[in-house]
Amino acid sequence: MYDVIVIGGGAAGLFAALRAQTIAPTAKVALLEKSGVLLAKVRISGGGRCNVTHHCFDPGKLMQNYPRGGHELMGAFHRFQPQDTIEWFEARGVALKTEADGRVFPITDSSETIINILLDEAKKLNLEIYMRQRIEKIKKTDRGFQVGPYVTRTLILATGNGRDGHSWATQLGHAIQTPVPSLFTLNIPTSPLKGLSGISHNPVELSIPGTSLVQRGSLLITHFGFSGPAALKLSAWGARTLYEHGYAIPLAINWLPDTTISQIFETLLQCKKTVPHRTLLSENPFKLSRNLWKTLLNDERRLNDIPQKHLQILAQKLHADMYQVNGKTTHKEEFVTCGGVTRKEVQFTTMESKICPGLYFAGEILDIDGVTGGFNFQAAWTTGFIAGTSAAER
Ligand SMILES: Cc1cc2nc3c(=O)[nH]c(=O)nc-3n(C[C@H](O)[C@H](O)[C@H](O)COP(=O)(O)OP(=O)(O)OC[C@H]3O[C@@H](n4cnc5c(N)ncnc54)[C@H](O)[C@@H]3O)c2cc1C
Repeated sequence: MYDVIVIGGGAAGLFAALRAQTIAPTAKVALLEKSGVLLAKVRISGGGRCNVTHHCFDPGKLMQNYPRGGHELMGAFHRFQPQDTIEWFEARGVALKTEADGRVFPITDSSETIINILLDEAKKLNLEIYMRQRIEKIKKTDRGFQVGPYVTRTLILATGNGRDGHSWATQLGHAIQTPVPSLFTLNIPTSPLKGLSGISHNPVELSIPGTSLVQRGSLLITHFGFSGPAALKLSAWGARTLYEHGYAIPLAINWLPDTTISQIFETLLQCKKTVPHRTLLSENPFKLSRNLWKTLLNDERRLNDIPQKHLQILAQKLHADMYQVNGKTTHKEEFVTCGGVTRKEVQFTTMESKICPGLYFAGEILDIDGVTGGFNFQAAWTTGFIAGTSAAER
């Protein structure tokens, strides 16, 4: 009879198992993994560098980076937050660094560093790990759970976005929010900007007309359409809306979000007055990248020859430049799933099911996801830590 069985050897599951075994060294804890490798996503994460968390230590601010689950995680972050993640790794000899945008990486720029330390910890604790486990059935019993051939008092499901975990959770009484992708780049097949691939502009404000979806940040123009923090954040907050529209939806770009339309128009008129013999192209009053300005302007006339009405239209365009999204592309550095086990059915102070006592959840199996920047791993560490603690205490 096991005290704690964790299913899923990703960041959340392994962290939960380590925590359970740490606080209850004599407890029988086991980790069951379906594949032949542990921490597969950690290995490929952050382009192989593993963006392990984000340098944000205020739970109130941290929660704002989760399109789904921020509110519930807020309390959980008071128990285990990025500061604790950093301390956990540093206490075991992993030096971490924070980049200018707040992302935290191992100083080695290699996810192997993170994997090695987690596996070393498992060895030190003599954690029982069983690989290539094909658990067919999970049954609730009077004393706990029958998990395939294993019997356990408590069970932590940490199977990520895989179907097995969702179907076990359903059998044990939980509702699943339909999984759909989050954190992707936007395809704009008809974009006149495609030739400008590699150019970025900061800040822009992206919005989806007719919805409340608005995101601000840096935009990267790609061969396919748009990427960069603003587009990725929009894809995360709009994951469900975009899915429901079949990823075919209009997109508005405000290239000058700190300026009003009338200020833009005034500036253009001023140019016309003061330098009428120059072209608006060479004048570039908003100091946009030259090629971007050239494409947006699409007008090589001297200011004298441009009617006021055209300047008005240009001001409007710079404020709400319309594109048609048609499809999405996977962002290689990080992607996650929106959807999973319904949050209101889980007690976030313990990560225990409100429906099935003794059952806990951790990580991406839950309807929780963050924007890019280390927030998704932080959710995995936090929920894993709490689930491991509560299961062991129980
Ligand atoms: C390419 C990529 C890069 C990323 N980069 C970052 C990043 O830099 N920073 C960041 O914060 N987030 C990143 N993420 C997101 C992050 O990887 C996930 O949020 C995180 O891995 C979720 O952890 P998890 O343990 O819940 O799930 P997973 O990592 O998916 O682990 C689930 C585990 O459960 C196992 N499993 C599934 N079904 C069963 C079963 N039936 N029986 C037994 N085991 C089972 C799986 O094999 C897997 O090992 C990235 C994601 C991707 C895809």
